[in-house]
Amino acid sequence: MAPVTSIGIIGSGFGAIAVAVEMLQHGHDDVRLWERSDDLGGVWRDNTYPGAGCDVPSPLYSFSYAPNPNWSRRYALQEEIHAYIRDVADRFGVSPLIQYGREVTAAAWDEDSATWTVTFADGSTETVDVLVSAVGQLSEPRLPTLAGIDSFAGPSFHTAQWDHDVDLHGKTVAVVGSGASAVQLVPHVAEQAERLVLFQRSPNYLMPKPDQPYTKLHTTLFHRLPITQRLERGGIWTIMEQFARGLDESSRMGPIGHRIAMRHLHKQVEDPELRAKLTPDYPIGCKRVLFSDEFYPALARPNVEVVTHGVQEVREDRLIDSTGREHEVDVVIYATGFDSQDFLSSIDVRGEGGEKLATRWADGARAYLGMYVPGFPNLLVTYGPNTNLGGGSIIYMLEAQARHMRQVVDRLEIGRYRSVQVTEETESAYDAEIQEKLDHSVWGSCENWYRHPSGRITSNWPGATLPFAKRTRTLEPAEFAWA
Ligand code: NAP
Repeated sequence: MAPVTSIGIIGSGFGAIAVAVEMLQHGHDDVRLWERSDDLGGVWRDNTYPGAGCDVPSPLYSFSYAPNPNWSRRYALQEEIHAYIRDVADRFGVSPLIQYGREVTAAAWDEDSATWTVTFADGSTETVDVLVSAVGQLSEPRLPTLAGIDSFAGPSFHTAQWDHDVDLHGKTVAVVGSGASAVQLVPHVAEQAERLVLFQRSPNYLMPKPDQPYTKLHTTLFHRLPITQRLERGGIWTIMEQFARGLDESSRMGPIGHRIAMRHLHKQVEDPELRAKLTPDYPIGCKRVLFSDEFYPALARPNVEVVTHGVQEVREDRLIDSTGREHEVDVVIYATGFDSQDFLSSIDVRGEGGEKLATRWADGARAYLGMYVPGFPNLLVTYGPNTNLGGGSIIYMLEAQARHMRQVVDRLEIGRYRSVQVTEETESAYDAEIQEKLDHSVWGSCENWYRHPSGRITSNWPGATLPFAKRTRTLEPAEFAWA
């Protein structure tokens, strides 16, 4: 029997690159990546709105095995992060393995051959032994369901599909939504537009952002004494672990974070009316905590209005808010987030006996360690259910997942097994444990994108990242069925 070696990865973002590097570094050479677009990078390719960047400091938002001494600043912007992924893919031999313009539409498990047959948008197929989903949680932009949304006569677009041909100078621009993307782009749009109307259904907690350019001295130190950058990474990781723990109800970090955010608001916004509009009425951490020194000052500009209502209707040249007030605008920017609950739903995935993954996940996605689903042999999911973070670096989580997946493939080869799947018992016990922990988290106390309509929190990992890394460090073969 031929050892299991062929690995197909859907996507080419951080998750896909993490798995590909790990496999290649451990001798699993038959790796291919299918990318629907014409470039790699996932969300860091797609999100090109002004000010797009990462609110996790770059020394931590990078692979542990590929530190980048050349980061230009502590919080790198999109272009630099995109260049970093490309560089890692080149250096570790992943780039030549990426097939572009290959949109996966379906994947079906064949029990007789113990392989996955993958179908593409052009109707072609490929067969692999192991299928890795690396489609992420934030790859499908979500437009709100608004009456008349298609009737708007001017330019309108989602933040992840920024139309760079639209000149905002002299225009009245509506930004719908006030989450992480809006916070980054509003200061830039406010500078360009004649007027900006921000539709903020709910305010967010905003923290100061200790950003700074790295000086020549920093860069030289990072090159000559790499330990210095490791120390910075370690320091940031330690602080963020405490922050992530703060999202647990029992932690004392919540009140401390609340105080820091409120001080930031009071320091940056003098107008009591605007301050009231920007004060959240839910516990800190329930929605993603945001970091910016520029957002509040932008909202205080005379050409910016904060409307504290959602949009409910669009007419040719105006938006109607939920109070019925009409706002005439020239351009609409939808900063309304992503279909985060639709894990893999754009792909028709069928496991044993033709079971549809979408049916299995009808009440919310779930997977052992976020990676393994009973009844779906040889399917590995990276950045899957309950692996997103309220605080911390997702790259750290992706590396841990890739290490675990690689051990699964090692064992398939060593044991000459053709297939592996997590047992129902293992997955059920794990899910019960995770959901019990999530019951104590802050995420159940407001509307957020971490929750499925069924009420289950399906996106987030509860707590700090170290326990996840520890738990995934060593494969426990008895938790799986090998055949
Ligand atoms: P988001 O956090 O899901 O925010 C969507 C926003 O749209 C919310 O403010 C929501 O209001 C609002 N909204 C939805 N429908 C609306 C309507 N009809 N009228 C008015 N407002 C409406 O989306 P996002 O900002 O794109 O961020 C998504 C995720 O991407 C983040 O949580 C983060 O994980 C990631 N991200 C990360 C970074 C980074 O720096 N690392 C940057 C950008 C994005 P409600 O809150 O009231 O629902």
